[in-house]
Amino acid sequence: MEKQTKLWKPAEYTQDHPDIVEAANALKAKDVVAFPTETVYGLGADATNEEAVQRIFDAKGRPADNPLIVHVADQQQVGQLVTHIPEVAQLLMDTFWPGPLTLILESNGTAAQNVTAGLSTVGIRMPEHPLALALLKAVERPLAAPSANRSGRPSPTAADHVIQDLDGRIAGILDGGATGVGLESTVLDCTSDVPVILRPGGITKEKLEQVLPEVRVDPSLLGEAGKPKSPGMKYTHYAPEAPLWLIDGNDDFFMEQLNRYKSEGNRVGVIASDELLAKLDHEQVISCGSRKKVDEIAGKLYHALREFKRSEVDLIFAETFDESGVGAAVMNRLRKASVKVLESH
Ligand code: AMP
Ligand code: MG
Repeated sequence: MEKQTKLWKPAEYTQDHPDIVEAANALKAKDVVAFPTETVYGLGADATNEEAVQRIFDAKGRPADNPLIVHVADQQQVGQLVTHIPEVAQLLMDTFWPGPLTLILESNGTAAQNVTAGLSTVGIRMPEHPLALALLKAVERPLAAPSANRSGRPSPTAADHVIQDLDGRIAGILDGGATGVGLESTVLDCTSDVPVILRPGGITKEKLEQVLPEVRVDPSLLGEAGKPKSPGMKYTHYAPEAPLWLIDGNDDFFMEQLNRYKSEGNRVGVIASDELLAKLDHEQVISCGSRKKVDEIAGKLYHALREFKRSEVDLIFAETFDESGVGAAVMNRLRKASVKVLESH
């Protein structure tokens, strides 16, 4: 299924710009097109058309039982997709849209079966990126759009990452530069009385609690006694080329472990904060910003995960971060990306 992937870089983000019209026409013809959002690049297809949506799963190699998020141009399009809009969902849309918050609502069946993976619910969000919104307006229908990476790889935060993973497999890429938030949206289930966070993301629990009386966190995100679950055994999510280990302890513990594994002959790549890197005498390092600026770390994380090549390192060690605010999403992704945790206690 090798095809010529077009690269558009529109100078202006308006719905009648020729590049955006061409991309919209490809989508109307059931093709798939990657576009930037404020979180990561998405791989879009007409959410109401099963054949178009199937091309997303084919291009990504995504398992069919993992539902896709539907992106809308405005709140009005939500009404076309759901049986009803609960009061709490209305409040959240008014407060946080456009923005990195996906709401799970009862589907009325307008979204294709494969978008919802057969579930009775559908995840919907209105992105904040002007290019995404211009495309959604031009195409005049909701777009199903998971992250535009091959399944299992880190999500793309630049058009280059999309090219690395999907060149020759999709109709085109709209290049809007680097994305802002850098991690995917928060997924919030609004089908029960108390909303439940299914995936932490750009809109933090703390922010949600400012407008909601109560928010729960899905138990699968937490292990027993609030301890995070151990990471997956296989490279199924956000996986870099070399195995990623999380080093859960203070800076001295990190340095001890690094020295130990280096002395055993391993080439170790390090992903860490500026503060930790300042203490290390080591060459294979990638900074993801200051510990004090967790938003910056979120923005740089996926790029860092793509940087180390298997030919250059045997292992990647990553620092752990404070889990307040966006730190919850950062640690959620790092745990999924990792195959092992070295704990200091
Ligand atoms: P991605 O599109 O790669 O950002 O992933 C979409 C995320 O949203 C996955 O974690 C899905 O499991 C989740 N999701 C999408 N739709 C639903 C739904 N109807 N119910 C629960 N989770 C959903
Ligand atoms: Mg994804």
